[in-house]
Amino acid sequence: MKQAYVDQALHLLNAPRPAPEVSPYVIADPSALQAHVDQIVGAPPIVRAQRGTTNRNARGGSDGRRRRREWLVSCFRADKDVVVIELFHGPMTVEVETGTEGGQPACRCYRCGVLLTVDTVTADRIKPGCQGGTYRRDNLRPACSRCNSETGAALGNERKGRKRA
Ligand SMILES: [Zn+2]
Repeated sequence: MKQAYVDQALHLLNAPRPAPEVSPYVIADPSALQAHVDQIVGAPPIVRAQRGTTNRNARGGSDGRRRRREWLVSCFRADKDVVVIELFHGPMTVEVETGTEGGQPACRCYRCGVLLTVDTVTADRIKPGCQGGTYRRDNLRPACSRCNSETGAALGNERKGRKRA
């Protein structure tokens, strides 16, 4: 194990979690880093339930929603992949070059630019539901759950009294 990984692992463990879901660190070999983090702290229980849990039980069956998220990632494919590293406080998404072993394809939130995977992307309707917008693919773009709920809440306040269908 290279000393650089050790330093980076310790830095990641000690640092407060940076902005929304993606760390600014670009790591050459994330699987090696994960192995080292596990070695230091003991492999933590995998915490995945916190990611992408909005919209469960709504807007179609789970298979259809997953296919929709897969379509969003492939259609709006970013120039980077991501690797999810499990830390104490939950998963951290790390940006890697495409083709990196263990990397997952990603797309970017249309609003804040954060990298999103099939597990974290949400479908934002360009024409919102309260204006009759549907989940047809020509009305969809990728959003992180935070931006999606913020824009939804803003719209709701704007149009008080008219709830989304
Ligand atoms: Zn966002």
